[in-house]
Amino acid sequence: AVRIHGISKSFGSLKVLDGIDLNLPAGSVTAILGPSGSGKSTLLRAINHLERVDGGFISVDGDLVGYEQKGDVLYELKEKDILKRRADIGMVFQSFNLFPHLTVLENLIEAPIQVRGVSREEAIQLAQELLARVGLSDKINAYPRQLSGGQQQRVAIARALALRPKVLLFDEPTSALDPELVGEVLDVIKELARTGTTLVIVTHEIGFAREVADTVVFMDGGHILEAGSPARIFNGAEHPRTREFLAKVL
Ligand code: ATP
Ligand code: MG
Repeated sequence: AVRIHGISKSFGSLKVLDGIDLNLPAGSVTAILGPSGSGKSTLLRAINHLERVDGGFISVDGDLVGYEQKGDVLYELKEKDILKRRADIGMVFQSFNLFPHLTVLENLIEAPIQVRGVSREEAIQLAQELLARVGLSDKINAYPRQLSGGQQQRVAIARALALRPKVLLFDEPTSALDPELVGEVLDVIKELARTGTTLVIVTHEIGFAREVADTVVFMDGGHILEAGSPARIFNGAEHPRTREFLAKVL
């Protein structure tokens, strides 16, 4: 489970996250909605320690992300240990971010070998399993530029899974895709949800959130304005800002 407790983050005088609390039980699917600039990407980046927070803490199965506690004091971990702990948290970006000069297989085995220290044989075996899961076994030797956007995003998901993360974060995973490619990526994410992977998805795909999420979180101005089941948020949002936002996107 992931615990997010009271995190805050400012860029200069702009407070982008202002006391965010959120619990992600193991196997849960959380969809984050909110207007542009509300802090959604910053929150995901903070969970992954790609962004240092100014206050609060995040833990994954009890291990603090980025820090170590000694007595009452938090010490930031060394880069090597940050990377190890970050491997528990997978991230899939809007813009795929595959290594362009590496084949699909090489993209998938790089981090497990480097970060997890698994053998090449084991990494290849896992890569083959994951490619089968995302329906791309036939693309194992292709380069990213030879794939469609939807295929690249499915490889990016397989690559994130190759580190066997405890939680997987998606930042608008389908917004850079042509409309006809959105479904194949959402189907892969749905399958992950079904098999019990802990997921957090920033998305504007309301139908998808309604169908797949256990909890929908609405953010505005660095705050979580409200959170609840899809039925509650989509049919009975309490906050006027949430209702106003949903009226625009539904
Ligand atoms: P969108 O829906 O457009 O992706 P978002 O909810 O993901 O928006 P963030 O990217 O988290 O929003 O940004 C929140 C605020 O923080 C914005 O006002 C943004 O300009 C600002 N911000 C984000 N990153 C930085 C940075 N590195 N330096 C300065 N300001 C930043
Ligand atoms: Mg964003």
